[in-house]
Amino acid sequence: MALITKKPRGTEDVLPRDSYRWQFVEDIFRDEARTYGYKEMRTPVFEHTNLFERGVGDTTDVVQKEMYTFLTKGGDSITLRPEGTAGAARAFLEHGLHNDPLPVKVYYLTSCYRYEKPQAGRLREFHQFGMECYGTKHPAADAEMITAAATVIERLGLKNIRLEINSIGCPACRAEYHKALTEYFSQYKDELCEDCKGRLDRNPMRLLDCKVPRDHEIAQGAPSVLEYLCDECREHFDSVKEHLDAAGIEYIVNPTIVRGLDYYTKTVFEFISGDIGAQATICAGGRYDGLIEDLGGNPMPALGFAAGIERLLMTMDAQGVEIPSPSPCDIYVASMGDNAHKKAGELCLALRKAGMYAEFDVVGRGLKAQMKYANKLGARFSIVLGDDELAGGIGKLKAMDSGEQTDIPLDTESFVREFIAEKLKADFAE
Ligand code: ATP
Ligand code: MG
Repeated sequence: MALITKKPRGTEDVLPRDSYRWQFVEDIFRDEARTYGYKEMRTPVFEHTNLFERGVGDTTDVVQKEMYTFLTKGGDSITLRPEGTAGAARAFLEHGLHNDPLPVKVYYLTSCYRYEKPQAGRLREFHQFGMECYGTKHPAADAEMITAAATVIERLGLKNIRLEINSIGCPACRAEYHKALTEYFSQYKDELCEDCKGRLDRNPMRLLDCKVPRDHEIAQGAPSVLEYLCDECREHFDSVKEHLDAAGIEYIVNPTIVRGLDYYTKTVFEFISGDIGAQATICAGGRYDGLIEDLGGNPMPALGFAAGIERLLMTMDAQGVEIPSPSPCDIYVASMGDNAHKKAGELCLALRKAGMYAEFDVVGRGLKAQMKYANKLGARFSIVLGDDELAGGIGKLKAMDSGEQTDIPLDTESFVREFIAEKLKADFAE
């Protein structure tokens, strides 16, 4: 039978030697979310297709081209989540979370699926962490959301990241803007890509987000949304900027950002890395005051962001950010003979209960091979148990880097206590 050794295009494996890098990013995100009072939400990897059609918007690239959609054996149309916001909003509604004290604050760490052309920074299975906040219209909430994302990025050790913000208004001011956009793009109708021709009447703002080079070029000359904001939206945007200034967050206003998903209103933002080539947006988000209503709920303002973990890791790599490597083996307990082997197992069990990373032989290696393995693990300490040591009740604990040896009692309780003391001494000496 042929060996199956090829993963599907656009997917990646995280190998055991690299997973600590992911955990580093995830730990910082979880910890930062905690300090803002966000709690984790987990939703299914697949949802009813119409959730994304309604939530993400059926004129977006995501819905038009990128979804993994299939019919189940029962004939239901199901889609693998292309992003986290729609599923979170669905769960918010389904479980009546609007009854909780507002704002309701949730975060997620999930895989997402988009049928895109795989390239650096663009995968078919990728991972996001995101935050969602429901129940506040206040501009301080927009600034707080942006600040949380900025702090995560800073805590990851990233530099040279540009924050761009914009306001894309509300449905009221957008009507006028849509007219202006339709008029502008109509002049170039023959040059637009087929998708954009279709979007021109239905959702002209989508043209600003088109990735086709000629369309993108045309979009650069389009009227600015900021000229069309109603008083409320303009005041909101001004206040968001003031709150960002107060928090010491640097930003650039870029009136061409509209974001790739239809649900955004008012504030939108992107964090862009200067070090990873074309797929440079590492984190993006904004306000979506209409989303909950679009999904059939009572009006409920909301906002959030999502960051692409692969792109964050790529940027960290490109910038040479050092990620603390996982702690090495604390002690390898080598043994010769059956009795000593049993004792080694007993000591390891007790050491592990005390939180130490301890190993002994479970392969059947001879002493020389055991020590070779201990070296490969980078064990900080080792000890060799044989009949003599068992009979005397004392062993020699060896610090692997200096070769220094210390006598240590072998009765289990004393061993664990004295080992921890030796390890702490070594920790402080470092
Ligand atoms: P892009 O403009 O790069 O296509 P998008 O607007 O589709 O991004 P969002 O839907 O806002 O992206 O997703 C938020 C973040 O998720 C992005 O900023 C990016 O970091 C990451 N992301 C999106 N699509 C992919 C993908 N196919 N592969 C890897 N990361 C992705
Ligand atoms: Mg995209």
